Amino acid sequence: MTDIKKNLKTIKDKLGDEITLVAVSKTKPNEDILEAYETGHRDFGENKIQEMTDKYEALPKDIRWHMIGHVQRNKVKYMAKYVHLIHAVDRLKLLKEINKRAKNEERVIQCLLQLKIAEEDSKFGLEKNDLLDILESDALKTYEHVKIVGLMGMATFTDDETQIHREFTQLENLYFDLKDKHNFTTLSMGMSGDYELALEHQNTMVRIGSKIFGKRDYDNW
Ligand SMILES: *Cc1c(COP(=O)(O)O)cnc(C)c1O
Repeated sequence: MTDIKKNLKTIKDKLGDEITLVAVSKTKPNEDILEAYETGHRDFGENKIQEMTDKYEALPKDIRWHMIGHVQRNKVKYMAKYVHLIHAVDRLKLLKEINKRAKNEERVIQCLLQLKIAEEDSKFGLEKNDLLDILESDALKTYEHVKIVGLMGMATFTDDETQIHREFTQLENLYFDLKDKHNFTTLSMGMSGDYELALEHQNTMVRIGSKIFGKRDYDNW
């Protein structure tokens, strides 16, 4: 049986106080989330808006919900009133929609831009130049209800640590190039398989699922 409380403690001891742990609860039942919640943990990540919204409705309202998956524009409205941080923003049109929905809710929604760092083709994210174009765009300046607070990235799923370090370094370098100018606070990198490597790259946030909640039953993400 998965000992969620013990797993959380083990990981938090490794992370220290400075790094925010997003416990990725996708596909997992509410009972598992509550087990983590009982230890005082409040940051949870989901990658499907419908599933996250169902959990938001059912669970304590002081949970901070992180949308870590690819976001479809037509679903932003379902999470606009409560989402804490959207990690994987990858286009200006999406920011426009987030701004519109956040305005309706009289909120400012925090977002991260996802940089594509993995060499594999399957992963989402922005090329560096496209990311810079978004940050410098006149449109973004008019979006008063979104705040870009940093960057997020996903390394290639591989055992090759040199490659993972190379990919994380790209993200780290771009983050620190932009940090002062854009008042960035958040660098989201590291998952169950590679978070210990990410700790060597000045990350401020990790997204960890299976090392806390156990293996997911279906893994078509
Ligand atoms: C599922 C997921 C995670 C967590 O994955 P684990 O390997 O279970 O820790 C992190 N980030 C994103 C974007 C995910 O989709």
